[in-house]
Amino acid sequence: MTVDLRSDTITKPTPGMLEAMMAAKVGDDVFGEDETVNALEEKLAGLFGMEAGMLCPSGTMTNQIAIKCFTQPLDELIADQTAHVYRYEGGGIAFNSAVSTRLLNAPRGILTAGMIEPEINAENIHYPHTSLVVLENTVNKGGGSCYTLKDIEPIAALCKQHKLKLHLDGARIFNALTQTGDSAASYGQYFDGISVCLSKGLGAPVGSVLLADQATIKYARRIRKVLGGGMRQAGFLAAAGIYALDHHVERLKIDHAHAHILAGELSGLSWVTHVVPVETNIVLFDTVEPAEIVLAKLEEKGIKANSTDKHRIRFVTHLDVHADQVEYAVACLKALS
Ligand SMILES: *Cc1c(COP(=O)(O)O)cnc(C)c1O
Repeated sequence: MTVDLRSDTITKPTPGMLEAMMAAKVGDDVFGEDETVNALEEKLAGLFGMEAGMLCPSGTMTNQIAIKCFTQPLDELIADQTAHVYRYEGGGIAFNSAVSTRLLNAPRGILTAGMIEPEINAENIHYPHTSLVVLENTVNKGGGSCYTLKDIEPIAALCKQHKLKLHLDGARIFNALTQTGDSAASYGQYFDGISVCLSKGLGAPVGSVLLADQATIKYARRIRKVLGGGMRQAGFLAAAGIYALDHHVERLKIDHAHAHILAGELSGLSWVTHVVPVETNIVLFDTVEPAEIVLAKLEEKGIKANSTDKHRIRFVTHLDVHADQVEYAVACLKALS
């Protein structure tokens, strides 16, 4: 048996999703004529209480376009040091937007207004102009930790007070909503931009949607074009996204339950020194032996995972990890010494 716990990006389209893709009505989306793309953008914007949406090939592109829309060259944005926009987008903040990044060091990547406020630069010719705060929900590097809307409210109020834009990297926002019980519709009032990934836990093959107001999305379409992200008959991909929203959101709680089972078992094992408390679909744990050695032993049993540090391993659960595979993985973990 193979159990692939490397990432929730590895999921393959289900037969139902493929059927929906094949049946999609398409047109040229650069002309705004792909009705399935338009339907996906409207559906997601509506869900989150935002005016408009724009489909992109990746979450990296939606985030980078949002940063471009919300800043000017010589500005500075504030984010946690674990932030995907900073660590895993190839230095795009500097390359695309000529903006510097002020990094905070928050527990599990969860920022508070109190942490952000002292980092906002005063008006002074020496300082870059602070113009944007980026939150991530859930926090990937934080092990799937999440913000509630109650956590976000004071941050949004602080941003408003200081005229800062607030962007959400919501690559796993539906995992956060599943965990917190917050309503998606309430998100729109707090954020200027929201990135939603369809190709993570939702199981679509490709796609991420940027949500914002009409004027921002109008400008964002120019930026997407200049980056080469204007797609033509993208409705085939959008259909997978619509299918995912209709069929794969409810089931995220299964992934979370699987993560809890794995973490629970791991915490009782002699070769594991620490398990980070699970909040959503990511399990981080530390090992006595170097992670590389443990990963090789797991690989022999057909269990694939990644390390995130010398002694730290990450498991990510997703829709292609079924209950029997979790059971098998647990048996293998127990047998390891
Ligand atoms: C995966 C991910 C993204 C987007 O990644 P792409 O591979 O470019 O789609 C953005 N933010 C976070 C937190 C992610 O985990």
